[in-house]
Amino acid sequence: MHEMSVALAVVDQVERAARSRGAHGVRDVHVEIGELAGVVPDSLGFCFELACAGTALEGAALHTRSVPGRARCAPCGRSWDTGLPPDMVCAGCRGAATELVSGRELRIAEVRWAAGPDSPEYSNATNGEET
Ligand SMILES: [Zn+2]
Repeated sequence: MHEMSVALAVVDQVERAARSRGAHGVRDVHVEIGELAGVVPDSLGFCFELACAGTALEGAALHTRSVPGRARCAPCGRSWDTGLPPDMVCAGCRGAATELVSGRELRIAEVRWAAGPDSPEYSNATNGEET
């Protein structure tokens, strides 16, 4: 399953970052998913939970944000939402010299670390703004 390999890659990356900054755990992971990336957010959420088990991310929540596919026509400068399946032909000039501006994203946008008992952020942990 594609989502499982994506989930494992996300967990791996976040775990490495957690280790390098000595984080006690991870509370939230925000991921941007392009509409055309071929990843189903619900499936990714499911796989993420499995992939987190036994890692520093155990119990972390995954938040996904969908990025719409956008195409732009080079000759006339028009841009539009591609939809799915992607419509890559310019409705203005019928040209096919279009480029995909967005929609293939698959990236970790933000990670919120869990505050540990000896972390300086710990006293702020309840107001939800530890960054
Ligand atoms: Zn055009």
